[in-house]
Amino acid sequence: MGRIAYVNGRFVPHGEATVHIEDRGYQFADAVYEVWALFDGRLADPEGHLARLERSLSELSIAMPMSRAALTMVLKEAVRRNRVSEGLVYLQVSRGVAPRDHAFPNPPVRPATVITVSRVDRAASEAKAAKGVGVVTVAENRWGRCDIKTVGLLPNALAKQKARAAGAVEAWFVDDLGFVTEGSSSNAWIVDRDGRLRTRDTNANILRGVTRLTLLDVIRQNGLEVDERPFTPAEATAAKEAFITSASSFVLPVVSVDGKAVGEGKVGPVASRLRRLYIEQAKATAI
Ligand code: PMP
Repeated sequence: MGRIAYVNGRFVPHGEATVHIEDRGYQFADAVYEVWALFDGRLADPEGHLARLERSLSELSIAMPMSRAALTMVLKEAVRRNRVSEGLVYLQVSRGVAPRDHAFPNPPVRPATVITVSRVDRAASEAKAAKGVGVVTVAENRWGRCDIKTVGLLPNALAKQKARAAGAVEAWFVDDLGFVTEGSSSNAWIVDRDGRLRTRDTNANILRGVTRLTLLDVIRQNGLEVDERPFTPAEATAAKEAFITSASSFVLPVVSVDGKAVGEGKVGPVASRLRRLYIEQAKATAI
């Protein structure tokens, strides 16, 4: 059975799903998105992603396309129609379709909503996590509102491509003061020399990762200590462990930064344990 996409109120074959050429997401990146992991066909961290969606939309004065409850039903229906058990759900909401003009359409137009569902090979993801991945660093060059999850991802795409070309899996942005902000599609963490977990605070210009937030909860539930404080790439290589978090990678161990080993250059016990604990918690709370 083929993939099915949701476009503005209709489920259509994926290959035939289209948006208008004057969709403001297409012309101005005037759109936001969310990604949910699926465990056994159920949405992981449902409320966290919905809350961030509402916040992103509100920061841009775009209306929620429908209520939270209705949106949850549509997301679940999209999953059901695609018969995906382990995978990802992508939701994008743009300001809508209007004749090209930088200023918002007045009166406002209906936001345009798109949902796609994709399958993920979890065995391959587990193998990747067991081996650990490399990251490269790139200069931070994004705008000042990375807390809004917009589809304006060109710097992120360029950074990810740099990583790919270097045989790495992720790129970490580094700010003017030499501190890691976050990854191109993930949040960055270390287990420092003293064994303390560290990740950047969300007053910085970063995305408030939902996986990050759930993991902070898991960490505290397990009596571990965490500092929401920035670190440099040199601190990462001097650290015991490093890892990244995102809805698509969960907790993914990082074993090298710019080709230099993190700690002993192997996947460490803290990242492995946190990956297991995060997945347990996400499975238990998925809807
Ligand atoms: N930072 C950026 C720039 C991202 O694109 C993502 C993934 N959406 C994250 C962090 C991680 O966020 P989440 O855990 O909500 O997927």
